[in-house]
Amino acid sequence: MASGNSALTALAGILKLERSQGCLDKAVIGGLDRFLQNNIDELRPVIGEPARYADLDAERRAAWVDRTLAAIGGAPSSKPAARQRRPAPRRPSRPRPAAAPLTLSTPVSALRGVSGATDERLKRLGVETVGDLVYLLPNRHQDYTNIRKVCDLEPWIEQTVHVKVWSSSVTRQGPRRQSTQAVVGDASGNVRVIWYNNPYMARNLRPGTEVFLSGRVGVFRNQLSFESPDYEIGSRDARLLHTNRLVPVYPAVEGLYQRSIRRFVRQALDGVLPSLEDPLTADVRHRAGLLGLGNALSQAHFPDSTADAKAARHRLAFDELLTMQLATIRRKRRWQEEETGVPVNTQSPVLARFLETLPFSLTGAQESALNEILDDVSFDRPMNRMLQGDVGSGKTVVAAAALLVTAATGYQGVLMAPTEILAEQHYLSLSGLLIDAVGGNRAGNTLEIQPDLFDRPITIGLLVGSMSDRLKRMTRQRIADGEIDIVIGTHAVIQPEVGIPYLGLAVVDEQHRFGVMQRAELRDKGRRPHLLAMSATPIPRSLSLTLYGDLDMSTIDEMPPGRRKIRTRYLEPDQRAAAYEMIRSEAREGRQAFVVCPFIDESESVQTRAATREYERLAGEVFPDLRVGLIHGRLAYSEKEEVMESFKDRDLDVLVATPVIEVGIDVPNATVMLIDGADRFGLAQLHQLRGRVGRGERQSHCLLLADDPGSEARDRLKIVERISDGFKLADEDLRIRGPGDYMGRRQSGFAQFKVASVDDLDLIRAARLEAGRLLDADPELTREEHASLASLADGFDASLTEEFS
Ligand code: ADP
Ligand code: MG
Repeated sequence: MASGNSALTALAGILKLERSQGCLDKAVIGGLDRFLQNNIDELRPVIGEPARYADLDAERRAAWVDRTLAAIGGAPSSKPAARQRRPAPRRPSRPRPAAAPLTLSTPVSALRGVSGATDERLKRLGVETVGDLVYLLPNRHQDYTNIRKVCDLEPWIEQTVHVKVWSSSVTRQGPRRQSTQAVVGDASGNVRVIWYNNPYMARNLRPGTEVFLSGRVGVFRNQLSFESPDYEIGSRDARLLHTNRLVPVYPAVEGLYQRSIRRFVRQALDGVLPSLEDPLTADVRHRAGLLGLGNALSQAHFPDSTADAKAARHRLAFDELLTMQLATIRRKRRWQEEETGVPVNTQSPVLARFLETLPFSLTGAQESALNEILDDVSFDRPMNRMLQGDVGSGKTVVAAAALLVTAATGYQGVLMAPTEILAEQHYLSLSGLLIDAVGGNRAGNTLEIQPDLFDRPITIGLLVGSMSDRLKRMTRQRIADGEIDIVIGTHAVIQPEVGIPYLGLAVVDEQHRFGVMQRAELRDKGRRPHLLAMSATPIPRSLSLTLYGDLDMSTIDEMPPGRRKIRTRYLEPDQRAAAYEMIRSEAREGRQAFVVCPFIDESESVQTRAATREYERLAGEVFPDLRVGLIHGRLAYSEKEEVMESFKDRDLDVLVATPVIEVGIDVPNATVMLIDGADRFGLAQLHQLRGRVGRGERQSHCLLLADDPGSEARDRLKIVERISDGFKLADEDLRIRGPGDYMGRRQSGFAQFKVASVDDLDLIRAARLEAGRLLDADPELTREEHASLASLADGFDASLTEEFS
């Protein structure tokens, strides 16, 4: 009779518990009456119309319980289980094959349960080997440590109970919706459970099964009830993966259940940990306060506490940072040991002449940076230095001085810029400075100077992609012949086919756009040139210890005198007219303005079309009274040169530009920078663009326009409005976007890290310290105990090269 009727089976369990608890109406949450009412359809045929149990006194309750138990066939003393369908005999668990020893490089398909489809899905998580799985760290942990007795359950919070199943059955909630319902209980009471849309659970949870349930308790038909909780079959001392602990939550892939991933991970850990070697000696671990590797991996997945999880991630992050530091410091030391550098004669009288004839004297900061550089290049050990200084701090002239002494010594120098326009600017301003200083002739893309101070003419040449093929070929030939002493250009100049036989000094402007390995590539150009990397985007401290850890640093932390702070304003869309009015009124004063078009597309042709339309609109409708020019990346070299020259010569009031003018343009008479679509730029870019003005003695303005910025973009614009210091802005930028975006993802070693964060300055320092120690003792990591560290460091270098190419 009762068999198969889940409500009756449940009731038997509840009543038995109720009896043993002295009939206090505690056996089921919400009270017995509610349980009866909710299941009345199933119960009525057997027990008739129920009494109001809550109103009965203890004696009557006991009598009613006994009577009812008898009616449904469960004598007070008999076990409810005796009435239930006999659980199907458990399939004898398949004898586990003697597991072949697992190593980190074993394919995951060797794990039990990982077959074709699962294997495919794991691959989508980047998991191919057991090692990948062991390092597939959870995104977070679900806290199921709050274990309670059933009678203490509260609605709406995550809780765990350890209970026995009294009954389970499938219920229908619609034509195609089937759920599993169960009643479970511990010594303190019973509670209902429902797994929505999951009829299969009923089969897993035979009456009598001990199970842990973790999840939220909701209110269902006025009763507390677990709603689709996580579950795990097991007794109190079982080793749990899914409940009653901090439960790992992995990245999701369709068709791959969290439960499966957890089981695979557990299997993988059990297989590899016993024989896992820790690349860190006990010594290092002790000094840096780190868990052993096996322990860390285990705790990273299945931690005993939140603190353990944290310690585990700390250790794994350390490994990543140590790898990076080993690779970086080793690179730096190898570089420093080279004695194949080019000693430059820094006593050359050319230098003094150049500095004397500049229209200004160097700031103290420029002077000390220049001295550091000159000091470096005078040795045969190649320089490897970063010169950083905010936009407009005057880095170019410092680089120019170094290039000049290099050329005077008889070596070649290159100055590389990230964009053609910037390269052209450098060429123009450098040749301008030199012509003023020492005299010379500019002809097309080269400048020849024949000063009394050189014993031979010095030639400066420009090499950019948009020059005609013939001109490029010719220029390359002249470089290869050693005829051009100072080459200024874009990336094109470091293409392998461009030989620079007497390269002595390479200057890389806007260094943050170049990758670590791109720098290394440059060094491999036959000789070992000195390298000077310049960045107007100040490098946050953490990155200068990591990505740029192989560089020495010089900083220009002082602006040339007489500069005024640029007034930056973020304007609401309805203030566009006011922005144009400001441009007009500055133009009336003889000042000039940049208008930067919104960034639309990486594609230059798309961007060019948009800029052209904007130019037509501004020239035709907004500023018919002003002289408006247009510059974009698609213009031929000579056209760009022409536009820039006429802007410099004040033949234009307004220059409409694509975002390519971001860097390097130097027109002191320009006092307004209007950035349209400012919400599409990052902080660093906005700061760069802003730095195009404020180069003269007049008050300059930067106006940020955005038609419909999201709240995040709005916050970003407010930050630019508020912060004018490039360093502070760089830190903000790093905080907001992370190093991946900051550097261009592929250039950032952090992009490949799973745990380490660029914010973790203390850990970065600790890793750097240990890496230094290790390399002091074993410079090339050739000792046997360092074998795994060596391969990690090699792997790191290789991955940077790979990501770069
Ligand atoms: P950045 O560091 O952004 O590359 P630049 O080298 O373009 O800066 O210099 C910005 C402007 O400041 C240029 O016009 C340059 O001639 C001028 N400048 C550089 N040094 C000084 C100085 N010591 N005094 C006055 N003006 C200077
Ligand atoms: Mg510059």
